[in-house]
Amino acid sequence: MHVSTSGTIKLKVPEGSNAILVKNLYLSCDPYMRPRMDQPTPGSQSYVDSFKPGSPIVGYGVAKVLDSGHPDFKKGDLIWGMTGWEEYSLITKTQGLFKIHHTDVPLSYYTGLLGMAGTTAYIGFYEICSPKKGEHVFISAASGAVGQLVGQFAKLSGCHVVGSAGSKEKVNLLKNKFGFDDAFNYKEEPDLAAALKRCFPEGIDIYFDNVGGKMLDAVLLNMRAHGRIAECGMISQYNLEQPEGVHNLMSVVWKQIRIEGFLVFEYYHLYPKFLEFVLPHIKEGKITYVEDIAEGLESAPAALIGLFTGRNVGKQVVVVARE
Ligand code: NDP
Repeated sequence: MHVSTSGTIKLKVPEGSNAILVKNLYLSCDPYMRPRMDQPTPGSQSYVDSFKPGSPIVGYGVAKVLDSGHPDFKKGDLIWGMTGWEEYSLITKTQGLFKIHHTDVPLSYYTGLLGMAGTTAYIGFYEICSPKKGEHVFISAASGAVGQLVGQFAKLSGCHVVGSAGSKEKVNLLKNKFGFDDAFNYKEEPDLAAALKRCFPEGIDIYFDNVGGKMLDAVLLNMRAHGRIAECGMISQYNLEQPEGVHNLMSVVWKQIRIEGFLVFEYYHLYPKFLEFVLPHIKEGKITYVEDIAEGLESAPAALIGLFTGRNVGKQVVVVARE
């Protein structure tokens, strides 16, 4: 930052640096940010660093380049990737940033549908689950940033798709907007295994797990032989001091189930392939996306916390500035 003699502040990248200086437009609220608030303990395993108290939160966002010391970025470029929860950020780690070339869609989509969440849904469903036409697919947290897309991809692949979500409004969205064949409110089901049996009398071929815990246990009892489970996330566990145990793991043996965890950033080399797949579907109206927009940086903390009570309906975005 440079203050001129007239007192106006000029935002500039420091001389000789290859950082970029950006204006943050849209910020993404993501469940993995909660574990980043825990301090690492000996033996704990984390794939991302903990947040540093006193420093702005770091997370995915969409931003506009104001100044650049890096040859790959220039003033005016739009990017998505890791930035700060602040109005302006100086980004020194530019390796993980993606330049935005398609601007005939809402820019906020690059926090979700066309960003990390969309890539997660694509990789998790197509690369990890190896779906086949006619298979029976179950998705938890199905109306969220990732889940709503997994369901739509599964329908495009000719699967029978059921989702669970935490309110009547979300269940309606699943059935009437995203085209799920069926859906249920898990908060109103005293017996999750029985609810799944009702929806899948012949069993589940593919489970896309966003929540872990009791739902995963109930799913294991309802899987078909040779079923696949994509372990995308376990949001029901992120606020617990001690994760709940899973009791029905023997089913994995009896039913020869394959369970595979994945981390989306290990697959970012496939992002261009994902864009090539998804953009035509968006333009043809075959994929739709629901966002929950919170206005202003000051609304960000409540928006993030809301992910853990299900306050968000669709992808939780925070608008810092629109241009
Ligand atoms: P969502 O937009 O789905 O928001 C979170 C939702 O989770 C809430 O709206 C709520 O929906 C549900 N939820 C919250 N607490 C609980 C609970 N205790 N039990 C059951 N459901 C709960 O988030 P995302 O789509 O962004 O993320 C979904 C999952 O995917 C998360 O587990 C996340 O960590 C994971 N993820 C993994 C990635 C990877 O690389 N492996 C990358 C991105 C995300 P409801 O009202 O339906 O309960």
